[in-house]
Amino acid sequence: MFDINKIRSDFPILNRTVNNKPLVYFDNGATGQKPKQVIDALVNYYSNQNSNIHRGVHTLSREITIAYEEARQTIASHINAKQVSEIVFTKGTTESINLVTYCFGKIELNEGDEILITEMEHHSNIIPWQIVCEEKKAVLKYIPINEAGELILEKLPQLITSKTKLVAFTHISNTLGTINPVKEMIVQIRSLCKAAVLIDGAQAVPHLKPDVQDLDCDFYVFSGHKLFGPTGVGILYAKQHWLEKFPPYQTGGGTIKTVTLEKTEFADPPLKFEAGTPHIEGGIGLAAAISYVNAIGFEAIQKHENTLLDYATKKLLEIEDIRIYGTSKHKTSVLSFNVGNIHPFDVGSILDKYGVAIRSGHHCTQPICKFYNIPGTIRASFAFYNTVEEIDVFIAALKKAIRLLS
Ligand code: PLP
Repeated sequence: MFDINKIRSDFPILNRTVNNKPLVYFDNGATGQKPKQVIDALVNYYSNQNSNIHRGVHTLSREITIAYEEARQTIASHINAKQVSEIVFTKGTTESINLVTYCFGKIELNEGDEILITEMEHHSNIIPWQIVCEEKKAVLKYIPINEAGELILEKLPQLITSKTKLVAFTHISNTLGTINPVKEMIVQIRSLCKAAVLIDGAQAVPHLKPDVQDLDCDFYVFSGHKLFGPTGVGILYAKQHWLEKFPPYQTGGGTIKTVTLEKTEFADPPLKFEAGTPHIEGGIGLAAAISYVNAIGFEAIQKHENTLLDYATKKLLEIEDIRIYGTSKHKTSVLSFNVGNIHPFDVGSILDKYGVAIRSGHHCTQPICKFYNIPGTIRASFAFYNTVEEIDVFIAALKKAIRLLS
């Protein structure tokens, strides 16, 4: 059963006040809060388990190596990877994408080749492709968006050519909330070309459970912190054959089989890509977060979040001069909007006085802002621990902010 009071009691931060008001945390698109099950895993790590992994023969090192590799297995099972060796620990979505652009660029891209991304990408899924395309004299193309903030997929057949080497797109837009039809897109891409497919799952994993085999994507990337786990840890899922073909991204301890003064023989994936001491407690904490959300269940999470989204959308639209950006029927619990000509930062600052944490700005998606010709938006993004009562607090505070700023 979805017991909201029990769930909220798992998140210590939800008890705090901000400016003497109960915290209303609607900035989940930026990062998720952590349940005590995750915090306890981190405390337990430092209190009882702290040691380095993989190379020690002593008990602590052996225990933590097992725990870290079990965490990798939990993550592999969660996204239904075929093999646990397809899971590479990284710092986050951004590093996972950089790893793919670097390695893919190095072995697959030649002058005149094409990479296709979309106009709704986070900067993390734009800039690395711009750089690698510039280096390799490859062409970067974009799938456009429409007024509702959806991809114009009818353009795919025109945009894909025999030179398209990789198509990368977000599963869910962090600014618009649009849930892209990723499975259908992959089927269509596969019917048109042999390109590899990367999915940016940063905003999807807090709301749904991806199945990478069912999707048949080549790469799926996400960050731990948006999935209610620790910051500084993320995942690159890659089909095994890519990891075998890819050169190491960074090198150093942990990535090798043997080193002589003349040459190095690298370890098998995923260790080949995990240079240096990793974020051990991050991996363990992320596995704890995954176990936590799975115990609640994504069906229940989605049902609750849809209730929040519908209620907040209705309440927002009752306010004069509100414009919502991202009106797709297929969207998650993200509301990006503006009120008349009021600057999003001003609204954000006043809401904070009422204890309401939202985000204002371009959300690292400046091309989306350019499309709508706006400096940014006010973004309220809900998680499963948020409530309808909090939305009422937010709407009341927003009305006061509008009165003050009009
Ligand atoms: N992609 C999307 C869609 C995002 O929303 C974000 C972060 O907001 C990122 C990538 C980058 O994630 P991180 O900063 O955790 O690497």
